[in-house]
Amino acid sequence: MPGFEFFGEEEKKEVNEVLETGILMRYGFDGPRKGIWKSKELEQAICSRFGTKYAQLTSSGTAALTTAMASLGIGAGDEVIMPAFTFVASFEAVLSVGAVPILVDIDSSLTLAPAAVEAAITPKTKCIMPVHMCGSMADLDALKAICDKHNLLLLEDACQSIGGTYKGKKLGTIGHAGTFSFDFVKTITCGEGGVVMTNDESVYTKADAYTDHGHDHLGVDRGADLHPFLGYNFRISELHAAVGLAQIRKLDQFLAIQKKNNHILKSYLEKVPGISFRTVPDPEGDSASFLTWFLPTEAATIKVIEAMKAAGILAGNFYWYANNWHYIKKWEHLKKVQSLSHLNEAQQKALQALNTKSFDQSDAIMSRCISTAISLTWTESQLHEKGTAFLNVIAKALS
Ligand SMILES: *Cc1c(COP(=O)(O)O)cnc(C)c1O
Repeated sequence: MPGFEFFGEEEKKEVNEVLETGILMRYGFDGPRKGIWKSKELEQAICSRFGTKYAQLTSSGTAALTTAMASLGIGAGDEVIMPAFTFVASFEAVLSVGAVPILVDIDSSLTLAPAAVEAAITPKTKCIMPVHMCGSMADLDALKAICDKHNLLLLEDACQSIGGTYKGKKLGTIGHAGTFSFDFVKTITCGEGGVVMTNDESVYTKADAYTDHGHDHLGVDRGADLHPFLGYNFRISELHAAVGLAQIRKLDQFLAIQKKNNHILKSYLEKVPGISFRTVPDPEGDSASFLTWFLPTEAATIKVIEAMKAAGILAGNFYWYANNWHYIKKWEHLKKVQSLSHLNEAQQKALQALNTKSFDQSDAIMSRCISTAISLTWTESQLHEKGTAFLNVIAKALS
């Protein structure tokens, strides 16, 4: 999964070009920057690699989601339907624009269950936000059909699935807007960073200004810019964009290694009766950053996790069901509405309702699910060792 494993001379060269000029900001300083515009260059590279008309870099993936929502006109009182299995950033962004997160069940794709989405629609629903978790994708045809039927926006949180595709189209470019995160552990990294992608010029123009205090970027200099609406500072720096520029050039190499390593490891687990794998709506399009597998029962899964721990091979294997960052079960701060600033009434009500809402369908899936992060640096012999160790541990735990 992580591009940081392949950090090297290419990243240093790009960063050094910025350090030579000393202009670390992405806007202005046209003379002293001597033609170095790393953020612009990275946005162009994103447009051409992912086939999106517009790309707006941000300071993080969370900022990208917030920016996308504001630019799509999502705000106070609007309901955003999102999955109960995601990263906390997804609901943070919804709350930050004043909107109401409506959490619904996932299915064996580990992403939004279309039937659960449809059942959650109310007159206040404005947007459906699938999260393409762990390198693979949601059933976008089904979700798009629901959006079309109910006149809703589709915002793809593709932060974890950079380089994945669905029926030939790049994840993150299929909805009205989509986002990637370039934080330190994502498929390609800027250190910190993110991007909003869209084919809608007006969404892009809004995102461009929103991330820079509302500056319209039309003045002869920054002081002459007008502010057509409120914005914030969600800018990326030139240093971060420089790292991303070196990384995006390596993306295809990363994806090829991920796929190869993932398939080798999967060939071991496939031999075990009782182990099954995550549903992938378009198997060709899996970015392969994780191998996600299921055991027959929760008890068996806990036994396997404990056996992996005892054998010293648990690192890089995630039991999300018991994990503080990724699943509704452990989001106590959300369910208890522990916010430093007051949330609006609709938000408070929706969060309190999470305490009594059942997520049985998701629990039945997540309690049996282990995701193995695929390293880019594993050698063939390490993969063989890993596969063999997995088989031994699982056989022992299940006997
Ligand atoms: C990483 C991530 C984000 C955004 O994260 P940042 O760390 O703010 O860049 C959003 N959603 C998901 C699903 C993520 O994994």
